Amino acid sequence: MSKTWLMRPCLTFLDAVARSKSGIINADRNPILNRVLRWTIYNQFCAGSNSTEVSRSMGELRQLGYKGVILGFAKEIVLDPSQGAALADDAKYGPACYHMIDEWKDANLDTIRMLSPGDFLSVKLTGAGPICVAALQAREPMPPAISDALDEICMATRKAGARLWIDAEQQILQIGLDEWVIELMKRHNQQGEPLVYNTIQAYLKGARENAQRHILQAAREGWALGVKLVRGAYIENEVRSLIHDTKNDSDQSYDDIADMFISRRAPQTDGREEVFFPSTALMLATHNAASASKAMTTHRDRVAQGLPLTKLECGQIKGMADELSCSLIEDCEGTFTADDKTRIETPGVFKYIAWGSVSECMGYLYRRAVENRGAVERTQHMVDALAKELRRRVFG
Ligand SMILES: Cc1cc2nc3c(=O)[nH]c(=O)nc-3n(C[C@H](O)[C@H](O)[C@H](O)COP(=O)(O)OP(=O)(O)OC[C@H]3O[C@@H](n4cnc5c(N)ncnc54)[C@H](O)[C@@H]3O)c2cc1C
Repeated sequence: MSKTWLMRPCLTFLDAVARSKSGIINADRNPILNRVLRWTIYNQFCAGSNSTEVSRSMGELRQLGYKGVILGFAKEIVLDPSQGAALADDAKYGPACYHMIDEWKDANLDTIRMLSPGDFLSVKLTGAGPICVAALQAREPMPPAISDALDEICMATRKAGARLWIDAEQQILQIGLDEWVIELMKRHNQQGEPLVYNTIQAYLKGARENAQRHILQAAREGWALGVKLVRGAYIENEVRSLIHDTKNDSDQSYDDIADMFISRRAPQTDGREEVFFPSTALMLATHNAASASKAMTTHRDRVAQGLPLTKLECGQIKGMADELSCSLIEDCEGTFTADDKTRIETPGVFKYIAWGSVSECMGYLYRRAVENRGAVERTQHMVDALAKELRRRVFG
């Protein structure tokens, strides 16, 4: 992966496997292809294709010191447009569209059954199909079928002692999606720590204002705010003018928003209203070591000064930025639990991991490879480290 000349054809191959309907290049039907893909990429990035394999992968991550796992079902459900357009007489959408919502809900409920207390369920709302996507695009309220399915998913997650986040999408959907997730937080984040987290994309020029809006609304209405902070994955497909002009601006935006949550800085209002910072939990979802380190330092300073804290956690994708995840684990353990007098809840480090059969995971793997292509191609230092370790093991 560190070689550009090899990475490009591999991506083309991955894309072909992910899209193909042919039996020969379907990884679930072709055992040789299945094996090759498992050895080369699937085992590195995915949890497994059934609950036994997933439990084993999750156990291995916990043994390494991760506080928990963020688990998502990888399969992207794509409806044939002709089915989507098959309108029933008395409804806008045909039964196939409602069936997709049920399939998507069941996949999420299956995923919840594999979680342990404290873990996260990762929910990709657009997986619910055209009813969901059309309502988001039109910025309409949640359709009842989606709303009921989400309530069921939230209740099952609470019962499992876990939490859930809703993935952020492109802006054309995200503006409506923010409203839906705020509505969900209002319904399900009434007691104690948040159950539902929304995702804020710091690469957007409007991200800071959006984060402040979340804080104000939670403070005014009295619910707990859960935020997963990411830089944003859609730079290649998004309206470019919505995104910060430079990488440096996106980095600053990310660090500033993280600092706003960690330092519990309430937005300025017109002075007639006193805003108390709401109960908040922040998940820093990033592979950027500088951002993670800045956030940890601010959090640690507040611990040392005995100031009120925002619940802080970090997440990276399994198979990526493992050196950052492991150093964060070490850092947190060393700093936050050493002194009995200041013993507080250590910021947890989590790994995001997708599950599904090899073929079901291909679309997910392809998207992640494209989204992180820059970072993936900058992995020569990992090749060097692996070669050094191999030499050490062979020659002592
Ligand atoms: C656990 C986890 C969950 C995630 N969930 C989501 C999600 O729900 N939705 C989502 O959109 N993304 C999600 N992402 C992906 C995330 O948004 C980033 O694309 C990815 O993590 C790379 O960014 P980084 O913070 O790791 O750091 P870096 O690798 O330092 O930053 C790369 C990012 O910087 C930004 N950037 C790059 N070049 C420029 C430029 N010229 N101008 C402006 N900005 C630029 C882009 O956002 C790019 O992805 C998730 C990531 C993780 C780790």
